[in-house]
Amino acid sequence: MSGGDNLEFEIRPNPAPVAASERAALLANPGFGRIFTDHMVTVRYADGKGWYDARVEPRAPIPMDPAAAVLHYAQEIFEGLKAYKMADGGVAMFRPDANALRFVKSAERMAMPPLAPAAFLQSLREIIRIDQDWIPQSDEGSLYLRPYAFASEVFLGVRPALEYLYLVIASPVGAYFSGGIKPVSVWATPDYTRAAPGGTGAAKCGGNYAAGLSAQADAIEHGCDQVVYLDAVERKYVDELGGMNVFFVLDDGSLATPPLTGTILPGITRDSVIKLAERAGHQVVERPVSLDEWREGAASGRIREAFACGTAAVITPIGTIKSLDGEFTVADGGSGEVTMALRKQLVDIQRGRAADPFGWVHRVL
Ligand SMILES: *Cc1c(COP(=O)(O)O)cnc(C)c1O
Repeated sequence: MSGGDNLEFEIRPNPAPVAASERAALLANPGFGRIFTDHMVTVRYADGKGWYDARVEPRAPIPMDPAAAVLHYAQEIFEGLKAYKMADGGVAMFRPDANALRFVKSAERMAMPPLAPAAFLQSLREIIRIDQDWIPQSDEGSLYLRPYAFASEVFLGVRPALEYLYLVIASPVGAYFSGGIKPVSVWATPDYTRAAPGGTGAAKCGGNYAAGLSAQADAIEHGCDQVVYLDAVERKYVDELGGMNVFFVLDDGSLATPPLTGTILPGITRDSVIKLAERAGHQVVERPVSLDEWREGAASGRIREAFACGTAAVITPIGTIKSLDGEFTVADGGSGEVTMALRKQLVDIQRGRAADPFGWVHRVL
């Protein structure tokens, strides 16, 4: 069950938007998550009333009571997706319907009222339309969309809140890899796990990220770019990185990726990679892969490539793995052929440079 199917968005244009010349200067080098557009979407929820007061309004600080429930018990969920300039000059989103469904699932896990997918999709179209001048023109840039919701009720008791706020903000982003794609190194943390069976690993909630910051800091201390988590029960099997799912390419051309048993986030990029790989004739097996199998497979040549995937970086080769048992590389530690071919197929569909046989591209403008 979800609510807000028939929301009408009231449009309040920003009376003082960023000047065109300043916007152009910002878009020349946007980085990631540093600059924001002129507007935001807000929708309120109250128990007994449902979702109401949907607006597109000037981006501004939101007043918060110090006792707002989210600040104490972290009842919060989010999504992340991109709007792209297409090869023909139009604008599209990639699989936003999948984000809408995942947002419903995350809400259910966190005992929050789900927002109807139709309202979620409408909110994205509204902010893209009003802030379309903020979409980078470059081949690599995009407008990153961040829908999120949190408990806004003023109450310190521990129970699901009775009031929520849903927002969408938008941030122009540049190429994730400036100067070409570089394989990442990962630290297989012996100290931390990301999610246990029955926990919140499959929900996209801020709390999962807060709990991962120490592990990520450790990874950097060990000279690695990212942390890779092992399962919480046996501490043997690869779960995922802090914000990306993992794939292995084997010497028989098949792919392996950890199964969705509730402890990893069901990535939309992960799902897209599975479908693209199968279309290209690769067998894809969803099964547990242990760190030992990874190490031995890299040594024997059974595992030829490994990569991580998610919306922000799309597909990133994994070159080096460090753990308490030492360090190893996959093949020569470079970018694998299958990895890079899948990346190109995915990005070409996203940008409208290749046919879209799965109906993934949603035109907005
Ligand atoms: C968002 C996220 C991913 C990637 O999901 P996509 O839908 O592909 O962007 C993977 N792992 C975690 C923990 C995430 O939060």
